[in-house]
Amino acid sequence: MQKFFHNKIVLVTGAAGFVGSNLVDALLKTGADVIGVDNFITGRKTNLSHLLENEESAVDNFAFIETDAIQSPATYLDEEIKVDVIFHLASPASPPRYQKNPVETYLVNSLGTHHLLDYLKTSNPAARFVFASTSEVYGDPQVHPQTENYWGNVNPNGVRSCYDEGKRLGETICGVFNRDFGLDVRIARIFNTYGPRIDPADGRVIPNFIKQALSNEEMTVYGDGNQTRSYCFVDDLVTGLMKLASVDEAKGETINLGNADEYTINETAQLVKGLVSSKSEVVFKDLPGDDPTRRKPDISKAKRILDWKPKVSFKEGLKKTVVDFDI
Ligand code: NAD
Ligand code: UDP
Repeated sequence: MQKFFHNKIVLVTGAAGFVGSNLVDALLKTGADVIGVDNFITGRKTNLSHLLENEESAVDNFAFIETDAIQSPATYLDEEIKVDVIFHLASPASPPRYQKNPVETYLVNSLGTHHLLDYLKTSNPAARFVFASTSEVYGDPQVHPQTENYWGNVNPNGVRSCYDEGKRLGETICGVFNRDFGLDVRIARIFNTYGPRIDPADGRVIPNFIKQALSNEEMTVYGDGNQTRSYCFVDDLVTGLMKLASVDEAKGETINLGNADEYTINETAQLVKGLVSSKSEVVFKDLPGDDPTRRKPDISKAKRILDWKPKVSFKEGLKKTVVDFDI
């Protein structure tokens, strides 16, 4: 995997985000030349400051372009640059943030994906393209755990649809460019991921609970807290994404990437509370619309094709995340 990326030109959209910035760091360690793109709609400059801070500390094999990933790279990359791999991660990802930016969300996942693939089709049809899809394509799943051949149970016109259906259309576009134009496309269905650099303010459950527990504020459980999620530590996800791009057999495949250990939201709250010895009280708030009741990936395909499985336990990962919170 390390060898595959050495000296390759890799474009990462969403590079200033939580997952994107962790991926950029891992790619740079392989000796890849990385171009990061972001418009900071949900990302943070500080996630990349160690790479960009000033000219002396700037990293030679990293370049950053502040722009909108909905448009084609032909508008912002020099003509002579031949990109070998694209990771398309640009998209708001937390429910409150994609619901605040619904148009931007469906456009970057649909039109943005189309423009990136169309760019590769003319500039380097042999390049590899990894699309950051999501467990949300399964909606409120009626199959448990979720396997890649399950088509999902998604509301096409609800509060989460800009994201869910945006990702589903993104997958459709990947399929068209793979089947009809022979492009090397790989789809990652990412399940809930957490870890250092997740934005404490982005409203997802792990940053909310950590922030609330550390400041002894009320911990807000939505609904009765019996809904479940399965949480993957970001380092494990980054390894999975890099394997997805580099393993030859993954060409054209759609693969779940996540941790199969499943927790209720009540269990999640208690775990975080205990870990930081918090005095917070757990309170119950209204469940947001279309909130999935269960979520757990079947990762046998990732094990078989990528020889990948998560290594970091939830407790261990939470400890590494808590120290990143500046509270
Ligand atoms: P994030 O919000 O931290 O990062 C997303 C990044 O994309 C941000 O830096 C944002 O500014 C950037 N971005 C959004 N729209 C853009 C645009 N039009 N042009 C340029 N940049 C743009 O979220 P994340 O958790 O790092 O998620 C990264 C990707 O992984 C997303 O595509 C998300 O849908 C997917 N994903 C994440 C999870 C998870 O649990 N973290 C789960 C499933 C899927
Ligand atoms: N959630 C919660 N309290 C919070 C934030 C989220 O109980 O402060 C719940 C949310 O309703 C959902 C689960 O935690 O059932 C995961 O939410 P998140 O926003 O992290 O992502 P999702 O998996 O829903 O996309």
